Amino acid sequence: MSTPTAFVVGHPIKHSRSPLIHGYWLAEHGLEGSYERVDVAPEEFESFFRGFEHRGFRGGNVTIPHKEAAFRLADVTTERARRLEAANTLWIEDGRVHADNTDVIGFIANLDQELGRWGARTALVLGAGGAARGVVAGLLERGVEKIVLANRTDGKGRELANFEPARIEPIAWSEIPCRLAEAELLVNTTLLGMAGQPPLEVDLAPLPGYATVTDIVYMPLETPLLAQARARGLRTVDGLGMLLHQAVPGFARWFGVTPKVTPQLRALVEADIERRR
Ligand code: NAP
Repeated sequence: MSTPTAFVVGHPIKHSRSPLIHGYWLAEHGLEGSYERVDVAPEEFESFFRGFEHRGFRGGNVTIPHKEAAFRLADVTTERARRLEAANTLWIEDGRVHADNTDVIGFIANLDQELGRWGARTALVLGAGGAARGVVAGLLERGVEKIVLANRTDGKGRELANFEPARIEPIAWSEIPCRLAEAELLVNTTLLGMAGQPPLEVDLAPLPGYATVTDIVYMPLETPLLAQARARGLRTVDGLGMLLHQAVPGFARWFGVTPKVTPQLRALVEADIERRR
């Protein structure tokens, strides 16, 4: 049998950390296999998608800007991918291309690993972009009773609330300060706080002392939002774990071993983030 090979496809793709993560797991488990970056422009994606099996790939990860196209082109999709209308993990099974979206698993598994047993009646989610869809889907799956959703552009917040209107309340960006007091979990899914972007300007003083603050931005690892929460003595969870955990299901499909997110892997990727800052 040929050596199992997987890809990460995007445009651009050179900054992807996925090869580092999968390369670490291949070496850790002593597996033969490889994981390659493939840069494909949007107009070439369909042809790449139709031909990847013939090029010897068992599947791969899909990142910006191809997640929606990957979902549309797949033969079989999971319920999560259908909910998000976007796919980030592809594999061949019974001669057909299957597609899943593992951002949902990544977000929740990170909170599980960092917080142990956790729950929240009310979560305040900031942002309604691509990543927010996975976060909101994960919180709904996890039984969070109410999600208050603030987005700069109102229409996108209202659209995302259609996932489950009875449990998601879209609010205006200006309402954030007066909704903090009810939030047990605050999640930033916007670009704000990311290197090169302005910080997220929100005063966390009204948050209850038992609240957790999590940011899916992982560059830098401690965003100004997380630094403020830590200074207030609140529990914080950074975004790196989400990136690591979302990679687990794909590796298991392509290489046949379910890998673990360990402190050693985290340290390796942290060092890479530091190096490239
Ligand atoms: P996206 O689809 O472009 O969405 C961007 C979001 O940020 C939108 O809600 C947008 O609001 C908001 N935003 C941008 N500038 C803003 C501003 N000045 N004020 C208020 N809101 C603003 O991006 P994405 O794919 O969701 O990614 C968002 C972040 O999550 C990125 O930093 C990305 O690296 C990170 N991420 C992390 C992981 C992980 O594994 N940890 C996974 C995916 C993404 P509008 O709708 O008003 O434009």
